[in-house]
Amino acid sequence: MGVGLALLRQGLVFGANALQRRLSVSLEISNKDRSYDWFLAWMLHQNQQLTPRAFQFFRSHELSVETTVKQRKNGSSSALFNLVAGPGTHWFQYRGAWMKVKRERETRAMHALGVPWETVTLTALSRDRALFPHLLAEARDLAMRDHEGKLVIHTAWGIEWRPFGQPRQKRPLHSVVLEPGVSEKIKTDCEAFLERRQWYADRGIPYRRGYLLYGPPGSGKTSYIQALAGSLSYDICLLNLSERGLTDDKLVHLLSNAPEQSFILIEDVDAAFNKRVQTSEDGYQSSITFSGFLNALDGVASGEERIVFMTTNHLEKLDPALIRPGRVDLAQVIDDASPRQAQLLFTQFYGGSHNVTGISDSEVQALALRLHDMVAEEMHVGKRVSMAALQGHFIRHEAQDALVSCQKLFSCKPVL
Ligand code: ADP
Repeated sequence: MGVGLALLRQGLVFGANALQRRLSVSLEISNKDRSYDWFLAWMLHQNQQLTPRAFQFFRSHELSVETTVKQRKNGSSSALFNLVAGPGTHWFQYRGAWMKVKRERETRAMHALGVPWETVTLTALSRDRALFPHLLAEARDLAMRDHEGKLVIHTAWGIEWRPFGQPRQKRPLHSVVLEPGVSEKIKTDCEAFLERRQWYADRGIPYRRGYLLYGPPGSGKTSYIQALAGSLSYDICLLNLSERGLTDDKLVHLLSNAPEQSFILIEDVDAAFNKRVQTSEDGYQSSITFSGFLNALDGVASGEERIVFMTTNHLEKLDPALIRPGRVDLAQVIDDASPRQAQLLFTQFYGGSHNVTGISDSEVQALALRLHDMVAEEMHVGKRVSMAALQGHFIRHEAQDALVSCQKLFSCKPVL
């Protein structure tokens, strides 16, 4: 009798397992994969929509919190707490089929980034395999929609690029006021490069382009690169050469594995290699070498697109090996305010639809012209002002005031 019951029990377990295998499909997603974050965000989104019955994991007792801090323009911020499915098992219904989500965390082994390995296993109680591609496509579209019209900045995490912070509002290109023709020159060059993929491929030339923007701090180099990326719907990959733990090998890997449609931005490249040895401010010497950096810049499989933007405040400190064609194809000075730039920035600030001070547009134009002349006169005696200083000044003053009190901002600087 006992033996019979044991056999029956085993048979039932076996049968149930076989039935489950036949009637269900499973999918495992690990947090190495991009769709992992998309899926969790999708779950969170569904939960917020709360289509009753369809989404029920919030009933689960195993939750994790995801905090989003929203920073407003006036400096205040608020935190939003979203409960997402934590490690454990959760159920929900998708397109009429019940799905089990098992989120597991590996506590013993860690990612190279210090993040625990995680997987979610989705099991659909349905034989319809098309459910998963549908679900993942929805998750991907949701993630993309979130980024649409925004600028995503990636930073290096070990050997991977990861989005840094929330996607940002794009800055209009015209809001960065450069000398006439400069913005168009860089943009046209970049667009021409992007249209010539086949030309490069036919000739077996590595499909890459390097730009160097040099000039004093606060002249708009970084702002311009970000605005240009936004206008071309590109992302930015911000590379900090002084980062601890960065090695030549990792650098090669990072430069060859940047996300598609992104600019690699290396700021203050002079500070990194002024004596061919990479030293950070506190004297720490990183293990990337100048020759390693050049190799990483050069080494790209032909066909793969790579656009590198470098900025520096001191062109003269750069090693000639770095600025030779192939590494830097277009070098452009972005200097302190010229009379024309100051005039334009002034009208952008106080004129048109931004005119809340009640002075007429023609008055704004007249004041802007006076500023133009003032900058020209100061330049004549060797004095300059940065665009960033002008911007800060305009933020704090009304139009008339701004002009009158502007003189003190100028200091002796050479024209580049
Ligand atoms: P840089 O990279 O040359 O040091 P940033 O792009 O970081 O300068 O500029 C610093 C700040 O000054 C930003 O807030 C930016 O809006 C403002 N700014 C600097 N240059 C310009 C410019 N040419 N046009 C408009 N704003 C500028």
